[in-house]
Amino acid sequence: MIDFRQKNVRSAGATDVVVIGAGHAGLATSYCLNERSIDHVVLERGEVANSWRKERWDSLKLLTPNWQSRLPGFRYAGDDPDGFMSMPEVVDFIQAYADFSSAPVKTNTTVTSVRQNEDGYRVETDSGQWQAKSVVIASGACNVAAKPKVADSVPADITSLTPHLYRGPEQLDVGGVLVVGASATGLQLADEIGRAGHDVTIAVGEHVRMPRTYRGHDIQVWLERTGILNECYDEVDDVVRARGLPSPQLIGSSDRKMLDLNHLIDNGVRLAGRLMGVNDGIAQFSGSLRNVCALADLKMNRLLGTIDNWIETHPVLCDAPERLDDTQTDDSPTLSVDLNDGSIRTIIWATGFRPDYSWLDVPVLDRKGRIRHDGGVVDAPGMYVVGLPVLRRRKSSFIHGVEDDVRDLTRHLHSYLDAGGREIRPPDVSTVQPLKNLAGMG
Ligand SMILES: Cc1cc2nc3c(=O)[nH]c(=O)nc-3n(C[C@H](O)[C@H](O)[C@H](O)COP(=O)(O)OP(=O)(O)OC[C@H]3O[C@@H](n4cnc5c(N)ncnc54)[C@H](O)[C@@H]3O)c2cc1C
Repeated sequence: MIDFRQKNVRSAGATDVVVIGAGHAGLATSYCLNERSIDHVVLERGEVANSWRKERWDSLKLLTPNWQSRLPGFRYAGDDPDGFMSMPEVVDFIQAYADFSSAPVKTNTTVTSVRQNEDGYRVETDSGQWQAKSVVIASGACNVAAKPKVADSVPADITSLTPHLYRGPEQLDVGGVLVVGASATGLQLADEIGRAGHDVTIAVGEHVRMPRTYRGHDIQVWLERTGILNECYDEVDDVVRARGLPSPQLIGSSDRKMLDLNHLIDNGVRLAGRLMGVNDGIAQFSGSLRNVCALADLKMNRLLGTIDNWIETHPVLCDAPERLDDTQTDDSPTLSVDLNDGSIRTIIWATGFRPDYSWLDVPVLDRKGRIRHDGGVVDAPGMYVVGLPVLRRRKSSFIHGVEDDVRDLTRHLHSYLDAGGREIRPPDVSTVQPLKNLAGMG
């Protein structure tokens, strides 16, 4: 029996492993380290589940259903498995996990520097120093909203917001809103702001269209059952591209509603192509709107075809195949908007997120600032990273996706410690092999 009741977390000293971040990925790592009786501490700059407390908008619900909310040793146990958690519910879920596992979390402790030394790593925080043989970076993939360069050219009297600063439509000035980006975030914000009575334009680049339900089941049922989400990082054709793909256009709601560009159009939102530049206050959009939408429709239909093929060889109760209408695009979409004429008062940059490694003083970042790793085994002895998109599998950045990765990586870490800090090979990905034809997943 494992004793999960570690108490009185030390504020500094020596340990085998420092885990940085107490989101679900750091806590899952802690659980697996506990299972192996590996001494460790989890350092968290805020509270447990800090990102869900501080960096999400008020109306956001998970786009993964409750039945999919599971972590090592723990799973959703409420009475609404097909529902979607609100932000306070996600915070409660992750806090409950921290309590259940008695993770040795030191909250309100910001890691300010990690340096390599002859005994492993020196981890400095704003309240003490740690010496560790190994470090697991679980500090999140979405610490910073990634604004494109063009944001610098926007006239100063227009309010620029990122999803981290957006809470709800009531905070916006009266007037039009330009939402840049059509991933899950951009779509959800454009929908909410449009419904609140603002005139909304959405700039649409590459996106991943996906129905909420297909053949009578939630799309996540199919993504799991077909094995699509288990595809391994070393089997993905272009893993760099896969790691940068926008999140699928999904929304979690009690009526399981679908949200795509057609729904936005029906609700009065105007579509434009990708925002290419702002010159003298004129926003210029690409003419490729029709093409990017056609490509997203094509990929979605390929994905549905993959699911149909799987169903043919697996007995499962479900409805007949169906296809959605293609995205309706204008023959002559908006190519420019004058940002000087007062019609647009706010721009929301729903253009993705990136991690922040400004505290990491170990030379493991590539020239784009991405951490160099092989399936989570970082390019520095005894250092690991968890929770990044397609880290070891397609599901890696999702709550339900972290367990397999963390089990692989803590096994590797254990061997590393046992070997006295000698380099060892990355672990093989050890789950069911998924379908080979993953067309539609980018
Ligand atoms: C808008 C949005 C919607 C999402 N929806 C879903 C969904 O529906 N379902 C799903 O499964 N996933 C979803 N995700 C993806 C994913 O679950 C989240 O990004 C999740 O927060 C990642 O967990 P994590 O533990 O890797 O990182 P985080 O939750 O970000 O945790 C990292 C922790 O590290 C701490 N930290 C960072 N830097 C330091 C430092 N220097 N010192 C100390 N502590 C530090 C942070 O405060 C934070 O608490 C969504 C993500 C976003 C952005």
